[in-house]
Amino acid sequence: MSAIDDLPPLREVIKRHELAAKKSLGQNFLLDLNLTSRIARASGRIKGATVIEVGPGPGGLTRALLAEGAAKVVAIEKDSRALAALAEIAARYPGKLEIIEGDALEVDMAPLAGEGPARVVANLPYNIATPLLLGWVTSDRWPPWWDGLTLMFQREVAERIVAQPGDASYGRLAVMCGWRCEGRIAFDVSPQAFVPPPKVTSSVVRLTPRANPLACSVKALETVTQAAFGQRRKMLRQSLKTLGDVAALLEQAGIEPTRRAEEIPVDRFVALANAWASR
Ligand code: SAM
Repeated sequence: MSAIDDLPPLREVIKRHELAAKKSLGQNFLLDLNLTSRIARASGRIKGATVIEVGPGPGGLTRALLAEGAAKVVAIEKDSRALAALAEIAARYPGKLEIIEGDALEVDMAPLAGEGPARVVANLPYNIATPLLLGWVTSDRWPPWWDGLTLMFQREVAERIVAQPGDASYGRLAVMCGWRCEGRIAFDVSPQAFVPPPKVTSSVVRLTPRANPLACSVKALETVTQAAFGQRRKMLRQSLKTLGDVAALLEQAGIEPTRRAEEIPVDRFVALANAWASR
């Protein structure tokens, strides 16, 4: 029995269901239920919440979310080997755990939120973490179907998400996320907390949607940030040449042509995207 529920310890679950971690699925499991409970709590008050979890694996975080009082957890898992272990958790919490076997990149998650909003809590497979995050923050509908994202990333990626202008990690990811969300690193998790241990430190990031982000088209913001950060050390009058009349665009956006992408705050990128979209 574990400290948070009457289910068997995760080590035993993994052994019994033969869940040897697969690198191709980005599997680094968390076995410490105190740590998974801490991640669950970092997402805010769980009691009564609907939670979408990507990649439950053997279910360490899933169990923490349910033990903390989630009304419902919908967990999307690609590895069919994990389904039997997850079914045991579902049986322990009748009606509260829905398991979807599939690729999270292909699942339309909005309908899973029910009357919503739901929140997303996940120890993400690193190989698809950034595409998933970009999918959530560039959603067609805003406010989105989720009211918070609490996600594990490699520390280096976490820094790129929350970076501010002038930081070494400031780039497209920081602009796309900072435009619509407020983000912060909640805490770091050392490699030793995972089985098998990854090479680098991880961080739990918490993102909350801004109620009224500046109006802008996703496509336009993607286009201008791609051009600007594609040649991040160059002055914008040079790096943005592919976008057309650079001088006019920069003037309209109120940006000096000699500035570099890494110094430009999110609101100026939005102004630039809007200038480009209306050209
Ligand atoms: N949540 C578990 C934990 O904390 O111990 C497992 C986390 S592990 C880092 C990532 C999980 O995502 C694995 O269970 C893996 O099988 C699953 N996964 C990998 N690719 C996936 C995909 N495309 N869609 C859904 N799940 C995926």
